[in-house]
Amino acid sequence: MMEAMLSFADKHLKPYTLRGDELIPDYCPICHGGDNRDRYTFALNLTEGIYVCKRGSCGARGRFEELARHFGEQAEIIRPPGRARKQYVLPELELKPLTEEIIGYFGKRKISQETLDAFNIGSDDRGNIVFPFYRDNALVYVKYRAPRKPQGKEKKEWQAHNTQPILFGMDLCAFSQPLIITEGQIDCLSLYEAGIRNVVSVPSGCSNLDWIDSCWEWLEKFQTIILFGDNDDPGRKMVREVVRRLDEARCMVVEEYP
Ligand SMILES: [Zn+2]
Repeated sequence: MMEAMLSFADKHLKPYTLRGDELIPDYCPICHGGDNRDRYTFALNLTEGIYVCKRGSCGARGRFEELARHFGEQAEIIRPPGRARKQYVLPELELKPLTEEIIGYFGKRKISQETLDAFNIGSDDRGNIVFPFYRDNALVYVKYRAPRKPQGKEKKEWQAHNTQPILFGMDLCAFSQPLIITEGQIDCLSLYEAGIRNVVSVPSGCSNLDWIDSCWEWLEKFQTIILFGDNDDPGRKMVREVVRRLDEARCMVVEEYP
């Protein structure tokens, strides 16, 4: 893969210098150094296949193949070496049936038990809502939420430790249709309830985008991706970043909210 990065750099990033495992072009290929023509703000890490620009108003960052696509090139999927890649564990879960309290909680939000069953929502032994995240029928990630407003220091939601964040609802999607990505599990369930299929949600809100790496190959199979973020500043910021990383050409953003 390093060869692919070097030949890409020869074509698109010249002039550049090599420092350790970093390839540093004179100018960032995204912002070109801005009005001040700042130099050496951009680095492509040849070991990890990640690029970043330090210029605040640019902030470009992502994987080599995203950069390659930005220039209209195809890049193979690269896997950072083991040490750089996070090690995840599989969650342990004893999924209990839905409780009356949970069914009532979703009922108030007009989400039916059929929808809960489609996503295999259940409870834990303390009556919390359990959202299991499956990929190829394997449980990869689990999120919990109390079926009531959090009291005092109670958390609103939490997840199993050291598990790999993936999208919620992946196994219910068909690659032939556009994919809709929402910001929370309840938004995802609400759209499904409204008859919209091929809907997933990000695992843990808008600040963590590790799911892009975790689900990269899967996301690559969709021609169109529709982003349905919350209509607030963090939601809009997440949508902008996701659009940039998943390729503007195939992303659509929902701007109007009923
Ligand atoms: Zn830049």
